[in-house]
Amino acid sequence: VLLAYDPVRRLARVQVGLERALVNARMIYEILDIEPRQADSIGAVPITVPSGEVKFDNVRFSYGEIPVLHGISFTAEAGKSTAIVGASGAGKSTLFGLVERFYDIDGGRILIDGQDIAHVSKRSLRQSIAYVSQQPYLFEGTIADNIRYGRPDATDDEVIEAAKLANADEFIRRQPQGYGTEIGENGANLSGGQRQRLSIARAIVRNASILLLDEATSALDNESEKRVQQALDYVMRGRTTIVIAHRLSTIVNADRIVVMEAGRVVEEGVHASLLAIPNGVYARFYQLQGKEESPIIDDTELQPAEI
Ligand code: ADP
Ligand code: MG
Repeated sequence: VLLAYDPVRRLARVQVGLERALVNARMIYEILDIEPRQADSIGAVPITVPSGEVKFDNVRFSYGEIPVLHGISFTAEAGKSTAIVGASGAGKSTLFGLVERFYDIDGGRILIDGQDIAHVSKRSLRQSIAYVSQQPYLFEGTIADNIRYGRPDATDDEVIEAAKLANADEFIRRQPQGYGTEIGENGANLSGGQRQRLSIARAIVRNASILLLDEATSALDNESEKRVQQALDYVMRGRTTIVIAHRLSTIVNADRIVVMEAGRVVEEGVHASLLAIPNGVYARFYQLQGKEESPIIDDTELQPAEI
């Protein structure tokens, strides 16, 4: 379902006729460290992120008049993976927008390594975060340029190393001009799996402590899927990862699972402890998984045509 309020989702699907005015901040920040439009608060200081713990403390948030998060609390432990699961509209993507401070919250706090992100400079905050979306945005320029947008001062060697770690080096070298190949705004001549691996290479070169991952619902073939998964395993290693999870394997293997329903955290724990909750949301989901009425997996963002 195309949701009219979400220009990114629309643009990411069509990826043609891209109108600057419609480009959402999220998309830009995925690729460019441009100066934030909103000013920092007075006395904002650069954030320091020695370990990368992300803590939501009773966070409330509305889009305009419409409340969507009603007191979210959970902690994404440093260096661990936290899977967010929940049906479409539960508020998962909104959490990401708040961590990156595209919006200000109505109440509560978001702390990174104990620092309230409301009081730090947005540039330093965003530099400590890498975002890998299920619909990576590629734009005109070479393959090397597209990776380097993760960190504009990365050297050629760093770009190549990141591509290797993202399982992308091999297909890049098979392109007509290798790393110098122009890929065009829509990445027309790359497969979905290849585009995802470029996006992962971009995150690796960024070398941020915190990774926000909007996991792709897969319509990739098995081989491609495996390569993407290996690349993700690499980029997640040692980073605090918050993943909007679609794959059962990601959820089961997460260090912590946060189950959301309608703007609230309704269950939280590891797979085994959540399964043990009688009639729990997660337990029901697990029993039903693979069947059509799976209550908490958000598959509204399936993009078979694109991927
Ligand atoms: P999820 O990622 O779990 O599907 P979202 O965070 O995208 O959920 O959305 C949570 C709620 O906020 C939904 O009711 C959605 O309609 C609403 N919403 C999301 N983005 C916007 C927006 N930019 N403006 C207004 N409402 C929005
Ligand atoms: Mg979402």
